[in-house]
Amino acid sequence: MSLLIGLSSGNIQENKTSSRDIKRSILGAGLGLCAFKPIAKGTHKLFLVPYKKLYNSKSMEKYKTEYNNVVDIVLKSSKLESTGLKIFDINENNLEEVSKAYFDNLPKGFKQRIKNNPRLQKSFNKNLQNVAKGNYAFYMNIANSICLNKDKRYLSVFHEMGHAYNNNISSLGKLLDKLRKQNRKVVKQITQIMTLGIILIDKRKKDDKPKNNLDKEFQKIRNNAGLIAFVAGMPVIAEEGLASINAARLTKPYISKGAYKMLNKYNFRAWLTYLGGYTANAVALASMRGIKDFIVDRKNKQ
Ligand SMILES: [Zn+2]
Repeated sequence: MSLLIGLSSGNIQENKTSSRDIKRSILGAGLGLCAFKPIAKGTHKLFLVPYKKLYNSKSMEKYKTEYNNVVDIVLKSSKLESTGLKIFDINENNLEEVSKAYFDNLPKGFKQRIKNNPRLQKSFNKNLQNVAKGNYAFYMNIANSICLNKDKRYLSVFHEMGHAYNNNISSLGKLLDKLRKQNRKVVKQITQIMTLGIILIDKRKKDDKPKNNLDKEFQKIRNNAGLIAFVAGMPVIAEEGLASINAARLTKPYISKGAYKMLNKYNFRAWLTYLGGYTANAVALASMRGIKDFIVDRKNKQ
């Protein structure tokens, strides 16, 4: 009799604990989730500041004519011209005309996809508007074309040519490009969804022993969420780095020492912004887990 009472009161105690655990877990996950964006943004900013500082500087602008003068030479000597690489110079005055030319140059299937999908159409136009403003430049593999504002983004052309070189000529570049395409969306999203899901849904405390193999794997992912998200971004970081290495190598024979140094400085800081993006993501994911564990473990000790 006394044993039965003991058992049933034990069950009640356990139910109480687990419902409290769920509440703590939700509170911890909620706070962690709230902190995710500010932490990611703040961390990324640390990497963006040096790039923006250089981008707006006079010390870079003094090489502008020199850079512009060698674009055609590098196109020829790198053999990128013979791959059919096209450069679209877009700005706010020629936006409509160049957008149309850019669209016409896209592969047939992709053009049709844009035509049939208003959302894709909107993001396509928005992208070109941003490029026209000089916010960024890009290279598109399937159209083998670079789109940039030559006046505002005069230095980006070489890095974008580096991407074209990866896509058309360099075998290591082609491999990284393939990995990048597969990894960029799929792996990054899966990792984030998985890690976010495990951090948010997982109700166990940090030091709980895993019950089975699946549990063990979940715990591994949960405890290394930041690192996994960072590793998922490696092909992108590597391909970006190689594009800049190509840019430096192809341009070096035709520009002065000062201009070459500046090109590398600019590309390195631009590369840091990619590294920073993935680092920020990793830091924010790890912090989110830390906040949740802190709340769950701290209240548990009370
Ligand atoms: Zn790039």
